Amino acid sequence: MAKALKTGGEVDSFCTKCRMMLNHRIIALLDGKPVKVECSTCNSHHNYRAYPPGEAPRAATGTRSSAAARGPRPVRVSASSKLETERRDREVTWEKAIAGKGMSDFTRYDVSGRFDAGMLVHHAKFGDGVVTRVIDANKVEVLFKDDARTLAQGLT
Ligand SMILES: [Zn+2]
Repeated sequence: MAKALKTGGEVDSFCTKCRMMLNHRIIALLDGKPVKVECSTCNSHHNYRAYPPGEAPRAATGTRSSAAARGPRPVRVSASSKLETERRDREVTWEKAIAGKGMSDFTRYDVSGRFDAGMLVHHAKFGDGVVTRVIDANKVEVLFKDDARTLAQGLT
């Protein structure tokens, strides 16, 4: 039998100040459910939250495990994801440049060729790419799906 909650009783709630699930004291109840709680750690008063933000189950009516397990993963925003973001941006840029283009729009990459920014090239090893920058007469920067590379041009 579930323990009946009562004002002054204890309940686990997400503390909006401590930013974690902590023991709280119930200040106010509505229909047997806590609405206002006091954090036992920082003593702040706030609304009761049964789950940390972003982890609340879709429906309050049952099916716990399966739905939550299949739910979308939370988007991570941290310093370590900066590289990942840059990689994504590169990929989007690449996809935009390549989108809807046919075989005839690509120039076969060759060290003796001459390339301009915006040209689409096909590299035997790296695949399809777009020239993002002409570095100098003998070097161009080409964006491929996985990375940007500096390639030679104008060599004879
Ligand atoms: Zn707290």
